Amino acid sequence: MSRYDLGREELAALLCDEPAYRVSQVFDGFYRRLAEPGELTDLPRALRDRLELAPSLASAFRRVAESVADRGSTLKWLLETSDGKRIETVLMRYRDRTTVCVSSQAGCAMGCSFCATGDAGFGRQLSAGEIVEQVVIAARRCRSERWGQLGNVVLMGMGEPLANFEAVWTAVQAMNRDLGLAARHLTISTVGVVPGIRRLAGKTLQVNLAVSLHAANDVLRDQLVPLNRRYPLAMVMEACEQYRASTGRRISFEWACIEDVNDRSSDASELAALARPLGAHVNLIPLNPTPGGLSRGFRGSARSRVLSLQAWLKESGVNATIRQNRGRSIDAACGQLAACGSLVAARRAAAPESP
Ligand code: SAH
Ligand code: SF4
Repeated sequence: MSRYDLGREELAALLCDEPAYRVSQVFDGFYRRLAEPGELTDLPRALRDRLELAPSLASAFRRVAESVADRGSTLKWLLETSDGKRIETVLMRYRDRTTVCVSSQAGCAMGCSFCATGDAGFGRQLSAGEIVEQVVIAARRCRSERWGQLGNVVLMGMGEPLANFEAVWTAVQAMNRDLGLAARHLTISTVGVVPGIRRLAGKTLQVNLAVSLHAANDVLRDQLVPLNRRYPLAMVMEACEQYRASTGRRISFEWACIEDVNDRSSDASELAALARPLGAHVNLIPLNPTPGGLSRGFRGSARSRVLSLQAWLKESGVNATIRQNRGRSIDAACGQLAACGSLVAARRAAAPESP
């Protein structure tokens, strides 16, 4: 639990003996000023002390470690919940834009074969407040670093957001309504949980949707993404079409480029055949090394091949961008979040030549 599991009404109930304006002061303190209870110095001392002692207003996390990469522009926090679960949150700054990558679950049950979070298995669902508090931690840091307002939130950390739909959606609403982040700056990434995509399609708050595709035929996708056996590509595409039709928003497809597995011209043609009718944008991410991926012989595509993929897609009428590889040296890049200090060692042991 986190103090951000309490919205305005719950705070009012907790502080029912205080006048309404005090409740508003506390609410604004938490959500607008991003303050800890002890920092609310405009409140009477007695109330501040009471807030500091209330178990439901405690912080959700103990900060176990902070790692820094990319000359200070990528930060990764290892956070521990009160019941001892570890999650990771990554803040990235690129030129004048900041993006925080937050976790939606401790671990992940989806078991994708190239992802460290999948290797680590499922811990538990995060509460809405635990998801929001990661954003608050990042926004506070942006402020203290003088990086300006936090720009974007991507639910691309540990876990599958649409397998924790209620909490994720409550968190997204709080980010928008209470933290003041525009919906177009919020992105949910899914491995293809079809019922979740359909539910998103019915929402009026229009966040961005990224679908982690990685393969454009069921044979290969069954191997890379076990969930494909439950929700095969045709079903995922149908749900994407429904999302596009009802929201009018462009979907993006995430594609982790794996050497000789999904980076050939035939892969580009298959991907283009899915992306073009939807008007989807493709994000090409050179596969980041993980112990599980390495043990299966997966290697990231060479830069030249990623560029070729981009060019082949363009010839087929599909726009693709190449995602910058941020935070690799601190295992903060896509798919490397495992909340486990031994990951670096495991990776080095498996591939001594890797960076
Ligand atoms: N579970 C969600 C969101 C978290 S994973 C999802 O799968 O979409 C965030 C992104 O990192 C996804 O696009 C995922 O496919 C990608 N990813 C996972 N492992 C990776 C790796 N080893 N290298 C590059 N990208 C990876
Ligand atoms: Fe889970 Fe996403 Fe990793 Fe797959 S890629 S195991 S869905 S976090």
